[in-house]
Amino acid sequence: MALLRVLTHPDPRLRLVAERVTDFGEAFQTFVDDLVETMYAEVGRGLAAPQVGASLRVVVIDLRRPDEGGKLVPGDVFVLANPEITFREGEIVWREGCLSLPGIAAEVLRTEHLKLRYQDRLGEHHVLEARDLFAVCIQHELDHLDGTLYVDRLGPLERALALQDYTEAQHLAGRQAPPA
Ligand SMILES: [Zn+2]
Repeated sequence: MALLRVLTHPDPRLRLVAERVTDFGEAFQTFVDDLVETMYAEVGRGLAAPQVGASLRVVVIDLRRPDEGGKLVPGDVFVLANPEITFREGEIVWREGCLSLPGIAAEVLRTEHLKLRYQDRLGEHHVLEARDLFAVCIQHELDHLDGTLYVDRLGPLERALALQDYTEAQHLAGRQAPPA
């Protein structure tokens, strides 16, 4: 297994619409393992293939709920290939961050309850139902498959402020802010 490099905004590869997964063979299995390992290494709750520069419709999610001591521990890993939301109900506001936008977070309006059709890492078809944090994570990661970042879902002013904070956070982190 290997750690993959997570791309950060404004890398143009984060803006591509990803291709459907059609080959669930050995190379894909290795890629999924690397994606999961990278998600844990980066302390994220989810990671989408486009975030590591792969134009594939697959995301991995582990909610890593806190244990009794408040420490986030690995839980169930979901590998969602070719996912499609088939039902939406209710609204929820959640404070989101993203490994591709390090250093900032903002409140985003999402669907509270959804149903999803997807294929697992072996290509088997499934449906699942999700609420609250799980539903939010799914929507956040699925957005990456269509080249959407959570800041795109903010109002114009909030978005501008978030991106300004991001530029400052990048600067403080010692990174040269690339041209937008
Ligand atoms: Zn993200």
